[in-house]
Amino acid sequence: MEITKQQNKDPLPAFGEAVTDHMFVANFANGAWQAGELLPFGNLSLSPMTLALHYGQSVFEGLKAYLTMQGDIAIFRPEKHWERLNITMERFCMPMLPKSIFIEGLEKLLSEDRAWFPTVEGASLYIRPFVFATDARFGYRVSETYQFIIFCGPVGPYYARPLKVRVETRYVRAAEGGTGFAKCAGNYGGAIYPTEMAKEDGFDQVLWTDAKEHRYIEESGTMNVMFVIDGTLITPPLTTTILNGVTRDSVIQVAKHWHFPVEERKISVEEIQEGLISGALTEAFGVGTAATVAPIATIGLHDVLYQLPEVAQQRMADRIKNTLSDIRHGRVQDLFGWNHTVFGI
Ligand SMILES: *Cc1c(COP(=O)(O)O)cnc(C)c1O
Repeated sequence: MEITKQQNKDPLPAFGEAVTDHMFVANFANGAWQAGELLPFGNLSLSPMTLALHYGQSVFEGLKAYLTMQGDIAIFRPEKHWERLNITMERFCMPMLPKSIFIEGLEKLLSEDRAWFPTVEGASLYIRPFVFATDARFGYRVSETYQFIIFCGPVGPYYARPLKVRVETRYVRAAEGGTGFAKCAGNYGGAIYPTEMAKEDGFDQVLWTDAKEHRYIEESGTMNVMFVIDGTLITPPLTTTILNGVTRDSVIQVAKHWHFPVEERKISVEEIQEGLISGALTEAFGVGTAATVAPIATIGLHDVLYQLPEVAQQRMADRIKNTLSDIRHGRVQDLFGWNHTVFGI
C-alpha cells in the first residue's frame, strides 16, 4: 500500500482541523442543478449580500468514509444522508438535489483525494456536504440560486470522554412545527448559548427536553440519545423536533437484529430520574456520525448530579460501537447493505 498523506502526519489532527486538497462544487441556476466539478480546495468569493449569510438558508450533512480491510473505500449509508439532505432542503424551500449529483460528488472527491484516507484503526474521512443560498441581494426572499459543496478531511478515532450532561429546563433547541428535524445551520447557532452556559457550570453538553413542558427527553447536544432501562434500549420517537440520525437508525437496526428489545417512545425526565435512583437505568449514550457512540457518565438534573454505572459496564454502547466499526471496515458481513464501495486502492 502506498504511503498516504495521512501517514506522514503524526498524530492525526483534532476533529475538523484538516481538509483534503479538493472540493466538489455544483450550482443551482436558471431553475436547474448544473453539473458539478472538482476544484482545488480554496476560499469562496461571495457578495456581502449573499442571502444565506443574512436569512439562514444554509443546511448541511455529515457522513464518513472508511478504508476497508479489503483496501476499498466504503462510504457509510450515503443514500440515507442524501434523503435527509433533501428533507432538510425542502423545509428551507431549496430545490431538490438529484441523487446522481450527491453520489457522483462523493465518488469523485474521494477518488481524487484517496491518499488522504487515514489507515489508523477507527480513523476515517469525515465528509461535509452543504447547500446555501447564493443570491446577492439584501431584500428578504427565497433565493433563486444555490451552491452545493462537498469537502472532507481525515479524522482520528474519536475516543469520547464519558460525558457529563445537564437536563436543560430553561432553553429550547426545537419546538413542534419548527426546524428541529432539519440539519440546518440555524439549529446549531441557537444551541451555542445554552451549551456555553452548561459548560460554564462544568457540563459537556445539554440534554434537551421538549419545548412545551421540559418534561420529555429529546437529544443530547448534537447527537440522538439512547438509554438502557431494565434491559430495553429506549430512544425518543422521531418527531418534528428530533433529528433523524443515521447512526440512531443504524443502532436500532443492529439492536433489533440481535433481538435486543428496542422501544422508540417518549421518555420523561421523571422516568430517567427514577431509573437512576433505582438502578434500572444502566446505560445512557449519545449516537451520531462523529463519535458513533458517546457514553454518558453523569446526568445533572435540578442541581443534583446522578452517576451512571461505570462506562466499562455500559455493555450495549460498547457492543454497538464495535459492531458498527466492524461493518464499516469490512471485517464482518455488511448484512444491511450500508457500505457504498467506491473502488480498490
Ligand atoms: C447530525 C445530527 C445528529 C446525528 O445524526 P447522524 O446522522 O447520526 O450523524 C443528531 N442530532 C442533531 C441535532 C444533528 O445535527
